[in-house]
Amino acid sequence: MIADSIRNRIRDNGPISIASFMTEALFDPTEGFYATKDPIGAGSDFITAPEISQMFGELMGLWIMQSWDDMGRPERFNLVEMGPGRGTMMSDILRTGRALPDFLKAVHVYLIEASAALKSVQAKTLGANGVQISWVQRLDQVPAGPCLVIGNEFLDCLPIRQAIKVEGQWYERMVGLVDDQFAFVRGPQLNTDIEPIPDSLRDAADGALVELRPGDEQVLDELAAHFGTSPGRALFIDYGPADSEIGDTLQAIRQHEKVEPLDQPGTADLTARVDFGQLARNARALDLRVAGPVTQGEFLNGLGIEARAAALSQHAPEKRAQIARQLWRLTDSEEMGDLFKLIVLDHESLPAPPGFTAR
Ligand code: SAH
Repeated sequence: MIADSIRNRIRDNGPISIASFMTEALFDPTEGFYATKDPIGAGSDFITAPEISQMFGELMGLWIMQSWDDMGRPERFNLVEMGPGRGTMMSDILRTGRALPDFLKAVHVYLIEASAALKSVQAKTLGANGVQISWVQRLDQVPAGPCLVIGNEFLDCLPIRQAIKVEGQWYERMVGLVDDQFAFVRGPQLNTDIEPIPDSLRDAADGALVELRPGDEQVLDELAAHFGTSPGRALFIDYGPADSEIGDTLQAIRQHEKVEPLDQPGTADLTARVDFGQLARNARALDLRVAGPVTQGEFLNGLGIEARAAALSQHAPEKRAQIARQLWRLTDSEEMGDLFKLIVLDHESLPAPPGFTAR
């Protein structure tokens, strides 16, 4: 069991970072939450926007086609998806792409996926559509050339660290053992000269907890390196605040229920809110242009989701109520509409991305 191996590691070497705990719980090659099974969908652990409705992937398809146009309609380009899950969104994007045969001729799809189980689901979902599909481990393995990157609910599952302030000093919050049970414990003091604590939160009061997202920084480094030589644009959709906030957002979801994050590692999805403010600042520091974040509701409405819902309902009147419900789940402020946001990172030589008003 993963719990036993983590417990032994802590017994031997002391507390581990939350990032290490997340990495083992999610991606242990034999028992990790993502490594072994397909957790996405109504009957599984959690559901995502592309699984709620085809409208989501279809609008992403329009966005991708417009971005390809913005890049000057290159005859060959790489469409990269990070964390494609069941492959549903990519399938909807490629179906939408049939409207533009030159687009479909030009595209080579690269999928970045850590889970062997989900890779085989993706191969089944996407195998029959005639487009070239390859799997790579990182963006730097995608060949040079014009490139569009997309990721829905990818950043939220990258490992995080947490820092807590005690008597004016920041310390790492770690996972240790108390009475042989996993528990959060205070780790070493952090050197604030080098640790990426958002500036706006550095003066927080004692007791404050701040999350650090090393996984996001790594993705930004890869994007900046890739876009340095290849024109490109990346779109990430995820849940989180528009600017850095104090607070513990690590959460575990098992079969659609919230559970304790340290309980039975490997059996629940572990995620934390994306800090869009810090993401944007870090991206700018790497000379990426930033658009957004905009809320999912604003974005989908701006791209015409209501018209798409009306067209689908007209085509299948018996599904009218179901489609209305899907529209509501994706866009309503009480559902995904406000909490989920979109951010674009690209190069300033491109026109402003569709669906965004550049800030
Ligand atoms: N985008 C899909 C799935 C979201 S779940 C959807 O919207 O339905 C998160 C996805 O990211 C899963 O496919 C998971 O296996 C993958 N993933 C998480 N961390 C990863 C990493 N470090 N490298 C590659 N894939 C990762």
